[in-house]
Amino acid sequence: MLNAVEISHLTVKYPDIKALDDVSFVVKEGDFLGIIGPNGAGKSTLFDSMLGLNTKYDGTIKFFGQDIKKSKKYHKEIGYVPQNPVFEKNFPATVSDVVRMGLRTESDENKIDEILQQLWIHELRNRRIGELSGGQLQRVFIAKALVNNPKILILDEPVTGVDQQSIELFFSILKELNSKQKITIIWSSHDLDAVNKLANHVACLNRTLFFHGESEKFFSDDALVKQYSEASMQEHMHHH
Ligand code: ADP
Repeated sequence: MLNAVEISHLTVKYPDIKALDDVSFVVKEGDFLGIIGPNGAGKSTLFDSMLGLNTKYDGTIKFFGQDIKKSKKYHKEIGYVPQNPVFEKNFPATVSDVVRMGLRTESDENKIDEILQQLWIHELRNRRIGELSGGQLQRVFIAKALVNNPKILILDEPVTGVDQQSIELFFSILKELNSKQKITIIWSSHDLDAVNKLANHVACLNRTLFFHGESEKFFSDDALVKQYSEASMQEHMHHH
């Protein structure tokens, strides 16, 4: 299997803080990686660096063997679902408009239809996005990220306000994208049970990477899970 992603000695310093400290890991093509870590662990910094939004880092990031600082070829292979998609509630865009915006090349209506169906939002295609529930909106932004047939899908924390039924649907969609379409998935989540169920690899991040490996190994190691939980709890107390 190819290395879809290869991160070596990634360090990111902000004026007051080292957000990432010597982080290295590999994601094989077809893997489903869950990234877990408390608030402030550096997850967004990691994604921003992978997406080319933050270029001030030490170390290297490669997609399919290509250093992202040397080649932009990888770019079209990445689909990204942001944590809180920003849009104007009253902007008169419909679901299919938003998905179409994801296309890099000229509009391919068949592809848009196919994706809308796959994400269970085809019936909503003419609805304005301001009218959607959190779960529906989440699927619209996944559709937008998938419309170019990326090989890698990166998802930051899911949208808030997503009801239980939509969460289940979201999980089954991710599972299908990974197992049937062989899309490599990198997903940051606070939901340990969901990561345990869906991901085959886990990266546990808290500025440094304190675990990376098979999810079975992580979840069967009580000491590791406890270490993660304590780190999250400390962050939680810190923020309240
Ligand atoms: P996470 O996504 O895991 O919550 P972040 O990557 O957002 O973590 O943040 C990691 C740390 O870096 C935090 O302490 C945060 O305050 C700090 N940080 C994030 N972005 C910036 C920035 N642009 N400038 C300065 N500090 C930042």
